[in-house]
Amino acid sequence: MEIFREIKSLKAFLRKKKLAQIQIGFVPTMGALHEGHLSLIEASRKHGLFTVCSIFVNPAQFNNASDLANYPRTETTDIDLLTRAGCDVLFSPSAQEIYPQKAGLRFTFPGLDTVMEGAFRPGHFSGVGLVVSKLFNIVEPDHAFFGQKDWQQFTIIRQLVHDLNFNLTLHAVPTMREENGLAMSSRNQRLSAEEKIKALVLYQTLKLAEAELLNGKTMHEIFPKLKALAENDSSVKIEYLTLANRHTLESVNTLTQKNQLVLCIAGFVGEVRLIDNILI
Ligand code: AMP
Repeated sequence: MEIFREIKSLKAFLRKKKLAQIQIGFVPTMGALHEGHLSLIEASRKHGLFTVCSIFVNPAQFNNASDLANYPRTETTDIDLLTRAGCDVLFSPSAQEIYPQKAGLRFTFPGLDTVMEGAFRPGHFSGVGLVVSKLFNIVEPDHAFFGQKDWQQFTIIRQLVHDLNFNLTLHAVPTMREENGLAMSSRNQRLSAEEKIKALVLYQTLKLAEAELLNGKTMHEIFPKLKALAENDSSVKIEYLTLANRHTLESVNTLTQKNQLVLCIAGFVGEVRLIDNILI
């Protein structure tokens, strides 16, 4: 695997691939890689693409300084995992390389960025829009792979690609889970063994809510009950549990639209904020 830290050398290398008509698949990440990330690499390889992964902990998308400072960084292990997964190129730039000067551009995604994550992490999706635009301009991929785990992020990137005419195909890859159902996340590395078991409550709450909704219950009816149940453990704090149209992210109260909905949850387990969702 070739490793690049500078935009200029990466671009020069990729230009040769493009001239040779080689199609590029791109997997942007913030590192601390796990099997979920590797499933995106695998999806790109399965499409027969020359696969570029980026690792960049993007300061612009963190609204909380301690979250940024505590974000796990495990580059040596990441390089090993990517090499074994058959990734062709790693782009791992410094913050200075990506932001040589403070960026002035702000993104808004009306309708999409004020709900759920947007409501609890002001400025987060502007930072995501900024870094993903930069990375798309640097790598110029033909295909880009994102996880369904961050569903709201996926809908926002879909809007970005559409609005800015990025010439690429987007793919959403299903969420990889631990055997017990816990969604894999870099942030899980910050959980103690005991908290890892407690963190299962997010997925369990999603599945309980789904069962209740399938029985004809409404979100208004079930939300207080499920929140109280999850928070029965004092180290768990649920921020939201939202049923929404999976394209527009408009919240809905009941299962009226078949195969059009997503049920999203976010909450703290101890100090660590986690998210999860299921498509319904
Ligand atoms: P992150 O490093 O958290 O920014 O994630 C990089 C990419 O990996 C994003 O597109 C995520 O949605 C995706 N991802 C994170 N966790 C998982 C998972 N458990 N399964 C599949 N994709 C994931």
